[in-house]
Order: sequence, then C-alpha cells, then structure tokens
Amino acid sequence: MNRVFSGMRPTGKLHIGHLAGALTNWTRLQDDYDCYYGIVDWHALMSDYADTSRLGENCREVLLDWLGSGIDPERSSIFIQSHVVEHAELALALGMITPLGWLERCPTYKEQILNLQNKDLGTYAFLGYPVLMAADILLYRSEKVPVGEDQSAHLEITREIARRFNYFYGPIFPEPETLLTPTPKVPGTDGRKMSKSYGNSINISDELPEIWQKMRTMKTDPARERRSDPGDPDKCPVWDLHRVFNPDGGEREELASGCRSAAIGCIDCKKRLFSHVERYLAPIQERRRHYEGRPELLDEVLRHGAEKARKVARETMTAVREALGLLR
Ligand code: SF4
Repeated sequence: MNRVFSGMRPTGKLHIGHLAGALTNWTRLQDDYDCYYGIVDWHALMSDYADTSRLGENCREVLLDWLGSGIDPERSSIFIQSHVVEHAELALALGMITPLGWLERCPTYKEQILNLQNKDLGTYAFLGYPVLMAADILLYRSEKVPVGEDQSAHLEITREIARRFNYFYGPIFPEPETLLTPTPKVPGTDGRKMSKSYGNSINISDELPEIWQKMRTMKTDPARERRSDPGDPDKCPVWDLHRVFNPDGGEREELASGCRSAAIGCIDCKKRLFSHVERYLAPIQERRRHYEGRPELLDEVLRHGAEKARKVARETMTAVREALGLLR
C-alpha cells in the first residue's frame, strides 16, 4: 500500500472548515493508503517561538479533533512530529543541498510572511521551513501527497529537493505527486475565509448553543437588509455552508427559491443549516468526548503512532546516511 504523509500545525481547536476540507479527505484516504498524520509541532515553533506556553495543549486539541473526525489510530499512524526525531535529522541533511534562492523565492514563504506580519519571522529556521516540509514528506518516501486544489504549487519545492538529492547521491527518494483533494469553500461568520486568526470560526468542539449563536449572527447576502428584500444565495456565506453541510438537495432548492422571492427569512434558513450541522457534528463530538476524558488513551495513540512512523523513518535515514557517506 502506498504511503501518504500529511501534517497540520498545532494551532489549537480546529474548525468546521478543517473538517470539510482536510479532515474529511484524510479519513477517506485511510481506505486506500498507509497514512501517516503528523501534528507538526516543529513547524509551529518556527512562527511561534516566542511563547510556547500553549504548544502542548494545542497539540492535544488537534489530536482530539482528528480522532473525533474519524482519523482512526488503528489504521493510520498519528503522531507528534518532534517525537520522531528523524524529521529534524532529514531536514538537516536536505538543508545541505537546498540552494538559498529556492527558499527565498518559495511562494509559501512569501505568503506566510504576509499572513503573519505581527511576528518577527526573520529567522534562519523560518526561511528553511520548506526544507522541513520536504523532510516530512520524503521521510516516508510518499509517492502521493494530499493537497488542496489551491495549494498544488507548494509541493514543487519538495519535488525539486528530492530530485537534487537523488542527482548527487543516487535514487533514494520518489518525487511525490500531488493527490488533489476537494477543498469546499467554507466562509467564517463574517463572510471571510474561516480562520482562527480572524476570530470568525465555528469550532468542531463548540457546544451547540454556541454554534447557534454564531450562526444566528452570521453575515448573509448584504442586499437582504429587511425580511421583505429578495436575496441571492450565491452572494451569501450562509449558503456556502448549506452547500457543504446540507445534503438534502430538495430542501436546498426550496430554500434558494424562498430566498430569491423573499418567501423565507434568513433566520429560518439558518435554523435549517444549524440542524444539518448539528447532525453532522453529533458523532464527531461524541467520539471527541470519548477521548477527552482519557488522557492515557491519547498518550497511547501518540506512542503507538510514533513507533510505527519511526520504523519507516529509520529505514529511510539508514539509506540517507549510507548515500551521504556518513560513517556508520
Ligand atoms: Fe442567505 Fe439564506 Fe438569508 Fe438567503 S435566506 S440571504 S441564503 S441566509
């Protein structure tokens, strides 16, 4: 079975945008691939090095959301990146051959600098973060990497680093291909992309009354100022959520025409959305709660996941060390 690696930075509680995008794809991949899912704490340190007080707690929240979403520790290896030290070791090795210009020109680097303007990211590690990203993927010699439709360019530098390594030292790494995964549009309560940093998220673990409160006040089509104004679902962020979470096509049609003719109000439309999100989240929240009260179970998941990951990682590093000519 082909191996697949994917990671997520531990930024704390995940939201329903993560669920509809990455996590749904990840749970599906478990059927066809040998999956390695890492909570990439070294990556979090690269941008949040000044205050690490919440790092452990954030890793735990991400783990709970993953398990709740159906990432199955019996089928996939779930681990903390820093627990598999070979990630850092391979990053060091790949750093030897990665030209500085590639890093300076990397689109993700430029994008992150723009996104995180309130932080001092002029560090050695931050410039090199695509090298660590490449190490994460290449360590498992993955042939495919799941990436959202909007991010396929991000894998290019990993492929270039693999190619350059193989050119110098022999064919150690496959050049991973993108495994395009659907990324539905999930706006936050203010209509912008759902993101923790915008404070517009509906979290996977939010209590139902809190979710309703957020939905009730969510932005709608700005043209619908009054109940009697007709609206356009295509201009409404609530509608984007219906598209993702409401599987009832007949009901969606009825709501869309009710919106256009002003036959229904936004609150009714949101109530229907809420009931679908509630149904969608029920089994996920239940699974999450099951793990939440059992820290020893979480430790066991991580221990088992790291052990499995380490087995592959060690094999790769043995080949890398030999290829580099390091004395055994
Ligand atoms: Fe949006 Fe629904 Fe209101 Fe139409 S009725 S503007 S789709 S919330």
